[in-house]
Amino acid sequence: MNFKDYIREIPDFPQPGILFKDITTLLKHGKAYGAAIEALKEAVKNKEIDLIAGPEARGFVVGAPLALALGVGFVPIRKSGKLPGETIEAKYALEYGNDCLAMHKDAIAPGQKVLIADDLLATGGTIATTINLIRQLGGEVAGAAFLIELEDLNGREKLGDVDVFSLIKY
Ligand code: IMP
Repeated sequence: MNFKDYIREIPDFPQPGILFKDITTLLKHGKAYGAAIEALKEAVKNKEIDLIAGPEARGFVVGAPLALALGVGFVPIRKSGKLPGETIEAKYALEYGNDCLAMHKDAIAPGQKVLIADDLLATGGTIATTINLIRQLGGEVAGAAFLIELEDLNGREKLGDVDVFSLIKY
């Protein structure tokens, strides 16, 4: 399956000059969505994985079905102020300003192997912060899996020695 056929490109969103990769056109196509999750599962099948973690919101639509396909649990990573229990937080820089991601303190037990899932790897800021949170809780990052990687932005370099897999590269 050529997954690129299911990704819609929208110019000047959310700002002028950005060509946004819209995955909603993949998600609404059941066979393509299922095949994409199956391909991610295949890519990570030799890894030891206890949990999948994904940042809101599109990390949920990739991470949760992947967790079910692998038979492991899912941990949501959310923007600050959304999770009800005790959290740890990490700030990160966006192009304009800062953002903050949070995770429940008891989401990961020390030594658990956590695979990160998200829709798209761009500059790597979101996932570098996610890695930081997982490691703060004593988790081991088993790798990171994405539907899409924007290779020109060199996001992989920000993720250090974490094993990165992406299905569609631009
Ligand atoms: P990064 O932190 O720069 O790697 O940006 C990755 C985050 O921004 C991901 O969680 C994506 O959901 C979002 N993102 C950035 N660019 C796009 C895009 O073109 N399409 C969809 N999501 C994007």
